Amino acid sequence: MESPLEQQSGTPVTRQPVSQPVSQPVSRQTLHNESLIHYHQALSDRNIFNNCLHGLSNTNFHHAEGTDTAVYRMADKAVKKHVNMLDGLALFLIFRGRDRKDQSVVATGMIRETGGVKIVYANNSSRPASPEQKGYIDELIEKFKNQIPVNDILKHVIPFCKEKIVQRCKKLAAKFDINSTTLREDISNFYGIRSDIPEYTEMETTLRDQRWIQKTTSLSTALDTFLRYAAKLTQLSTTKDIFAVLCFAYALTTITPGMENLVEPPIWRRMIKMGDYRKICVRTRDIVRTIGGSSANITVEQLFPPDELEYEVHNSTLEALNTWSTVYPSESPLQDFESQLKEYYPDAKEGQSGEQKVLFSQHCELTVAKYLLRLKTAITLPKPIEIGCSKASCFWCDLYLKALNKLLPISGGAITRATHRNLCDGWMMPQALPGYEIVNIEVLDYIGYQVQIAFDCGNNRRRKSDSLPLDRGALLQDDEMQNESCREAIF
Ligand SMILES: [Zn+2]
Repeated sequence: MESPLEQQSGTPVTRQPVSQPVSQPVSRQTLHNESLIHYHQALSDRNIFNNCLHGLSNTNFHHAEGTDTAVYRMADKAVKKHVNMLDGLALFLIFRGRDRKDQSVVATGMIRETGGVKIVYANNSSRPASPEQKGYIDELIEKFKNQIPVNDILKHVIPFCKEKIVQRCKKLAAKFDINSTTLREDISNFYGIRSDIPEYTEMETTLRDQRWIQKTTSLSTALDTFLRYAAKLTQLSTTKDIFAVLCFAYALTTITPGMENLVEPPIWRRMIKMGDYRKICVRTRDIVRTIGGSSANITVEQLFPPDELEYEVHNSTLEALNTWSTVYPSESPLQDFESQLKEYYPDAKEGQSGEQKVLFSQHCELTVAKYLLRLKTAITLPKPIEIGCSKASCFWCDLYLKALNKLLPISGGAITRATHRNLCDGWMMPQALPGYEIVNIEVLDYIGYQVQIAFDCGNNRRRKSDSLPLDRGALLQDDEMQNESCREAIF
């Protein structure tokens, strides 16, 4: 089985600087390797890596709100538009709900080839699409090329993406404590929107004029009905029922002004996610028309990450992190969760003693990034690697892409739209591409450093506040990075 790490050394190592076997294909800056602390050797042992990643993920050492990535924020309009389009395409390829890891997240990329485009996509698993799913994708492309009505395209998408769509609908309803068994019929005006303000009247009039709601129905009643409809959807619901909910969400989030100002941002975001299904149909159809419509040459290829691998790790956060002391015997194991970890990481989960199986997988955006990076030539080098994601990237993927971007020209970096910044347990480190080994080394050093901080804090050698500058990513910063207005320090 292929190792996700660069080396397979399980023997104790000392903290000696190691020589870096790096040949950088493109480097507009010198990495300050001498200032790095070399922890990557310890983490090249898979057992140590898995346990440390598991332990760190459970300390929530870097709790922060999700955000758009800096590279996305600073990208020009055309690049942003392209990334958004790729995000949208990913939506059409999510065949499973969130509890089914294998096909529940998707990343996409696009390569312009002579006479057409190739769309690539990946899941977190190496499972190939079924013949039915392949048939669905081929038919979808044909429908876009033939410019068939948007509603018909959406009806084609719904049966294959039903699990995820229904989940998204139910998530909105759940915000108001409505579900399929509790519809709260006694409540009206869930959104609490005032009907005496101009935005309300304007929206109601527009929706009536465009026949999204009946002349006699108030906006407030229509919104309540929409919510209960969304709550009632199940995997057994018909395409027609789901279609109605998605179309109304589309209307609320695109054709009427003002809704964004009338509801709370989390509600708005959930409505957007439902409306997106139709919106992306509209946009993709337009794009396909501009590249030739029925004569456009569009191919779709699934990319495969390494197989997902299940590993046993220590369930207890303390025990998982303590594998560190097996490589650094001078580090006596942490003994007390409350005083040595919880005090410094208030969100840390203790975990039970014993073993736990965790599935490690290479996340889809990294599979796409690696594929596109491999295709880069001297000519395409300055062009950004645009990656679409069905959901924001995790902390580790974001970290990896930032380390990778340090080796690429400013205009040629990997761009994903956003990161939710959660520390995802079971994150598999990708095998480095030749010439880009330093990326893996830096990320491993960063992970090792965070484990070391946990030990230092636990043993009172370091106050959390002292570690803040390093906590914020000094291992992956350099002066030039900090001076670049279009790059942010790692966090
Ligand atoms: Zn990730």
